[in-house]
Amino acid sequence: MEKFCQSCGMPLTKENLAAGSKMYCNMCYENGKFIEPDITLEEMKARGIKGIEDGNDGVIKKFFIKASYPMMLKKLKRWN
Ligand SMILES: [Zn+2]
Repeated sequence: MEKFCQSCGMPLTKENLAAGSKMYCNMCYENGKFIEPDITLEEMKARGIKGIEDGNDGVIKKFFIKASYPMMLKKLKRWN
């Protein structure tokens, strides 16, 4: 199993791993396919940053996560 969803970069756990997948979360992937097959890297980035902002981490941690997120996203299997 991958550590991070290879589509959105969210940390993968047993709880959010999509059924039948070893690398995507259940917000990205369902029944053997992407939930939003046409989403672009830019759209995913905007969504991920919003998710980070809405999360419970502190301001400083959010700052660092947001700074590294675009780089991390680009390395994921879905975008290569
Ligand atoms: Zn995902």
